[in-house]
Amino acid sequence: MLHFFRKILFFSLLISTCGCSGQPGPADVDIIPESTDASPAPDTHHEDELAVFEQNLIDDYQSVLGKMENATRYQIDLQIADTVSDVSGHQEVLYTNNEEVPLDEIYFRLFPNISGLILTVTNLTVNDTQLPAILTNKDTAMRVDLPEPLQPGEQTLIAMDFQQQVPRAMGGNYGLNIYMDDILALDQFFPIIPVYDEDGWEVQDPPINADMLFADEAFFRVRVNAPAGLVLAGSGIEVGSTNGDQRQEVIYIGGPQRDFFLAASPRFESVSRKVGGTTITAYFPGEYRQAGNLVLETAERALNSYNDRFGAYPYIELDLISTPMNAGGMEYSTATSLSLRYFDADSDAANLTFLEAVVAHEVAHQWFFNQVMSDQLQEPWLDEALVQYATYLYYVDRYGVNNAQGFVQSWYQRWANVDQAPIPIGKPAGAYTREEYGPIIYGRGPLFFEALNETMGEASFNRLLSAYADQYRWGIADSQAFTELAQEICDCDLSDLLAHWVKE
Ligand SMILES: [Zn+2]
Repeated sequence: MLHFFRKILFFSLLISTCGCSGQPGPADVDIIPESTDASPAPDTHHEDELAVFEQNLIDDYQSVLGKMENATRYQIDLQIADTVSDVSGHQEVLYTNNEEVPLDEIYFRLFPNISGLILTVTNLTVNDTQLPAILTNKDTAMRVDLPEPLQPGEQTLIAMDFQQQVPRAMGGNYGLNIYMDDILALDQFFPIIPVYDEDGWEVQDPPINADMLFADEAFFRVRVNAPAGLVLAGSGIEVGSTNGDQRQEVIYIGGPQRDFFLAASPRFESVSRKVGGTTITAYFPGEYRQAGNLVLETAERALNSYNDRFGAYPYIELDLISTPMNAGGMEYSTATSLSLRYFDADSDAANLTFLEAVVAHEVAHQWFFNQVMSDQLQEPWLDEALVQYATYLYYVDRYGVNNAQGFVQSWYQRWANVDQAPIPIGKPAGAYTREEYGPIIYGRGPLFFEALNETMGEASFNRLLSAYADQYRWGIADSQAFTELAQEICDCDLSDLLAHWVKE
C-alpha cells in the first residue's frame, strides 16, 4: 500500500522533477486496442496439469509451472448482483499439504471482516463432508477442522459459499473494499489460505494500519457473472466472455500469484501499451484521460526500470485501476488500485505528481509482494521500505540522480512527522502507533536502504536487489534471509548498520 503523502511537504518532488511528469510521452508509443479474444476456457474442474496457465506468463517463466503442481488452486464462481454492492460466490479450493507434518486444520483469512463482519461463509465442506465455519482472530480467520489429519503430500478439496455486502462509504482499512462513485473494488473478497510455517498457521489479528496478506503462490480460475454495463478489470488474464442484454460473464485465470483482485465500473475507460511481453492497461473514469495516460506512461517506465534491475516481470498483463480509497494505492497480483482522488488534475495540479509516485511504488510491489512475499504484519519494512527505495530508483532511471533527490527529501519529511526519532524500522506493524507507522516504514525505512547502498557500494547493492528477487521469486523471504544475502554479497559485517536502523 502507499499511504497518502502530505501534499505540502511533497512539493519538493514536484519542483525537482518539474516538467517531467504530466503529459504522456512522445507519439512513438504502441497503443493497442482492448482484446476482443473470446475464446472459450476449458470447462473442467481442477485440471490435472497447469499448462493452461502458460498463457498468462511470458515465455521465460513458463517452466516454473513444472515445479508448482502442489500449489493451491482456487476455482471461484462470483456473482455481482444488479445492485453491484451485493457480491456472492462459490469456491472450491484444492489444497495440498506441502508441510512436513500432518495438518489437523486449515485456516482461511476473511480480511474484509477487519472492519466489521462483512464476509460470511456458508455450506463449508471438506471432501463433501459438511463442517461448521469457525471464525477466529476477530472474525478475520476461519478454522476448518479436518475430519481426518491431512498427511504430507495429501490433497483435500474444500468448498464453500461466501457472501459480502460491500461498503458504500469509506470505513475501516482505507476503503479498499468499496462500492462508491459507481466503482466497485473487491479487495480480498474471498476466503484465502494464509502461509503455514514453523510458527504454524499465520493468522494473527491484523492491525488496522498495515497491509495484511501473507500467502503462498497459488492458481486462480475465476468466473465472474455481473451486470452487463460494467467494465471489469481483474488480476490474471481474461480467457473467455459472453455478453447478454442484462448480464455478462467473464472468465479469468491467473497464477502463480498471491491473490485475486477485481474492480468494475460503468465509468471505466482504458488505454493499453505493450512493454516487452507485457500489456499494461490503465482503467479510469473517462473524464480523467490525462491522468490515465500519465499512469500508462509511468507504468511503462517503471516496468522497464524494474525489469532491468530486478529481473523481467513474469506476466503478460499488468492492470492499473483507479478506485476510491483513503490510501494512495494498493498492490495486488498483476494489478494495482490507485486512488481516484489523484486522477483529478483540475482540482489540484499536484495530483499528477503524487499519482506518478504511487504508480512507481505499486508497480515495484509486483516484485516485492507478488513475486517475493514477506510477512507484512511481522516485518512490514521488508517490502514497503524496499518498495519506497525501488520507487526512488525509478526516479533515478527516468530523471537522473539529481532530480530524484526530491523523492529522497520526501522520506525525511515523512520521518519528521515523528521528529526523526530513531525508532527501529524492524518492528511488527502492530508494534507501531498509528502516528509512527507511516513515518518509520515509509520514511525512515527507505533511508536504511540508502545507508545500505552507501555501505555496500552501489554495484554490490544493485547485485543484492537482483539476487534477492531471483533467489526468492515465487517464495517467501524474511529479514534474516535478506540481511544474510547482503552480507554474503558485500563480504562485510552489517551488524552495526542493522543495529542502528532495523533492530529493536
Ligand atoms: Zn506499498
